[in-house]
Amino acid sequence: MTTETIKTTCPYCGVGCGMEITVDHRLGEIAVAVQGDKQHPANYGRLCVKGSSAGETIDFYGRLTTPMINGQAVDIDTALDHVAERFRAIIEEHGPDCVAFYVSGQLLTEDYYVANKLMKGYIGSANIDTNSRLCMSSAVAGYKRAFGSDTVPCSYEDLELADLIVLVGSNTAWAHPIVYQRIAAVKKARPEMKVVVIDPRRTATCDLADLHLPIAPGMDALLYNGLLVALADVGKLDQAFIDNHTEGFDAALAKARETAGDLDSVAQRCGLERNALAQFYQWVIDTDRTVTLYSQGINQSTSGVDKSNAIINTHLATGRIGKPGTGPFSITGQPNAMGGREVGGLANMLAAHMDFDEASIDRVQRFWNSPTIARAPGKKAVDMFRALHDGEIKAIWIMNTNPVDSMPDADFVREAIEKAELAVVSDCMASTDTTVVADVVLPALTWGEIDGVVTNSDRTISRQRKFMEGPELARPDWWWISQVARRMGFDGFDYDHPWQIFREYAAQTCFENDGSRDLMIHLPEDFDQDAYDAWIPKPWPITPERPEGTPRMFTNGRFFTPSGRARFIAIEPRAPQNQPTEQYPFRLNTGRLRDQWHTMTRTGKAARLFSHRGEPFVSIHPNDAGDLKNGELVRVFNDRGEIVVRAEITDTVRPGQLFVPMHWTEQFASNPRVDKLVPPYTDPISGQPELKHAVSNFERWGARQYGFLLSREEVDVSAFGYWAKILGKHFVRYEVANREETDFDALLEQLAPEGGTLIELRDPAAGIWRAAWLVDGRLSRVLFLGPSPDLPTRQWLGERFADLELEGATRRSLLAGQASGAKDVGPIICTCFGVGLNTIVEAIHEQKLTSVEEIGKALRAGTNCGSCIPELTEILAREIG
Ligand code: SF4
Repeated sequence: MTTETIKTTCPYCGVGCGMEITVDHRLGEIAVAVQGDKQHPANYGRLCVKGSSAGETIDFYGRLTTPMINGQAVDIDTALDHVAERFRAIIEEHGPDCVAFYVSGQLLTEDYYVANKLMKGYIGSANIDTNSRLCMSSAVAGYKRAFGSDTVPCSYEDLELADLIVLVGSNTAWAHPIVYQRIAAVKKARPEMKVVVIDPRRTATCDLADLHLPIAPGMDALLYNGLLVALADVGKLDQAFIDNHTEGFDAALAKARETAGDLDSVAQRCGLERNALAQFYQWVIDTDRTVTLYSQGINQSTSGVDKSNAIINTHLATGRIGKPGTGPFSITGQPNAMGGREVGGLANMLAAHMDFDEASIDRVQRFWNSPTIARAPGKKAVDMFRALHDGEIKAIWIMNTNPVDSMPDADFVREAIEKAELAVVSDCMASTDTTVVADVVLPALTWGEIDGVVTNSDRTISRQRKFMEGPELARPDWWWISQVARRMGFDGFDYDHPWQIFREYAAQTCFENDGSRDLMIHLPEDFDQDAYDAWIPKPWPITPERPEGTPRMFTNGRFFTPSGRARFIAIEPRAPQNQPTEQYPFRLNTGRLRDQWHTMTRTGKAARLFSHRGEPFVSIHPNDAGDLKNGELVRVFNDRGEIVVRAEITDTVRPGQLFVPMHWTEQFASNPRVDKLVPPYTDPISGQPELKHAVSNFERWGARQYGFLLSREEVDVSAFGYWAKILGKHFVRYEVANREETDFDALLEQLAPEGGTLIELRDPAAGIWRAAWLVDGRLSRVLFLGPSPDLPTRQWLGERFADLELEGATRRSLLAGQASGAKDVGPIICTCFGVGLNTIVEAIHEQKLTSVEEIGKALRAGTNCGSCIPELTEILAREIG
């Protein structure tokens, strides 16, 4: 067979979109075409720009291809023996709690299951925690407090059935684009359906909103306490539901009254206009079919659990749960954050949604028939790395995640890993900011090369399927873990294929489960590899009565608390732990961009994903910027350290607030790791860090020379105090800057490619230095330096790397950076078709375009994945009002 089409699931966000991968082996090397799976219930054929470009990330460039011990390549047996022996010896000498696993929402459920089984059931410690701790553990704790279980009540279908969707702390348009597109489609079909966005920033998501409430950071619990009072005051409570299905309502309402005060008081403390807040409350009062969808803006806070319970309280009070078009809906960041929650990847959960109560401990140990069992929760992520730093934990195995970038107090975390007696990292990439400080690295297979299941935000379990071979010595994570377990002398890890692990995990969810536990995956007796391969997406619980799964939970008003009633929680709103000071007057918010994912290990391989935003930046309100100009370099700093990023002056952030994307690592820029500025303050219940409320200050970095370097290959740019690497189609682009004027001759010598012919331009009086090198008649490198960030467009020069030969006129234009008459398309807005801002603005005015559809017809922008539609809407609004 030369081509085949395989159904799998997107490797990025928790929307969990289904994909169809067409694999073509005819050219001798693999080529894949990626399309949305029209039958998948998460996306029905849609894909965002990240998903649709996933096929551009499957090459082996930069991959970890062999195990390494202390920087030396070793064979697989040596690596396995070393890891197993070191873990065994450290446990023998110091006890099981002296080791830890730090795992990831990128893992497949089977990987997660085996890691949890090894740590909790065989090593006998619960020191396994997942990076999902950083994105949604507050939502987990909120659900458990209210429902007695970590149960997402809703299905994506509820978004289509709702009459009011409230998006709280969620830039859905960028972080969960297909959820956004589903909402946008409903809005188009039913314009009377209302959308409210509650977010301190005016994000791309606001373009869909009937109302944006730019709430003061951290005030969500107060706003929702006020809503509970408003609902009670107008008699909009579902008293029958409260009486029959809940407990604790009176105390919750009393606390809400005590803390919220009247509407004016709530509006004033939330930094909102009174009328806007009143409008929001009225819409909620009037709309039975309300879904509240929330994400990191709620969760990444020292009061994240309380915020989520304040939201849930309002749904319980109105009985808006378990019914079509209703519910408090937490959406997850990672592709399998939910799978990790299920198997026990969080240190405070035992396994298969069971806790550390005596009955569950006994049941899980009997199911595993294991020699020991963890009897108490282990250390959550922040505490785990603190214990590693202190020497209490001696060995750690980090799987498929990059804590040196993503953890708060990230420099402390790097130090902790460096200090560990043993730091093992399994990853698919050779150089991440975490692999470079590990003692042992193990090459992992990755998306496209592995089989397994993932669970998305609405509990739908889907298959990831292998469609290509990985590097020769790379292995699936479940295999590395099982092999180490066996060499540590443990039975129970005799797996040959992930379908066996999935079957065992599913059996655990059903083991002694009479319906008192929410999580159940009931499989037919004869479930085998063929059935695993044929798996179609379905939401758990999957029971004998509902083999097709259960999209909506709590339809009967029964919850998983001992009383069967949902619990109201009395909420005392708390301000963020970090408070601005005279020295650090700005609140630093961190978040995601449209076209990048996590620490860019995958999206950083797709050139077109850099065309939207190529460099790390900080958003600063014009009132705070003083005479700082757009594009200047600034240092953002506090007493934990500093980063150097581009200034973006914009009123999308509130005065007093800064926003920095979380994606950039030292593999892509000189000093961009924003999480080193974030203190390790955590929610007291969930342990989730307050990643959105660091405080900081900023000032000009003091660049005296700005520039860029385009090169056919990667080059050493350490001569520049600032650099950022941006992938182009046939070249690598570096944006560079220095605080001192560079010795141009020394630079030319350092950067000259072998056999290159140099063309140069020097204008010392104007501070302009330019050079281009040709090798065999083709452009090899080009360097521009000048005194300000205003430099010629990189677009025309970048396109010249595709030229097989440069004509004389083109050569003469190289140092101008542009051929005469060539147009600058501006920053790319539509990544799919490479349509830039200048082109769009020109077309709007010249062709009198008045809608996104008309822009699409004229330029194709927005007609493929649709990720840029919010920005097109904003551009239209700006240009024609
Ligand atoms: Fe992937 Fe985009 Fe779907 Fe998320 S929304 S799962 S990134 S295609």
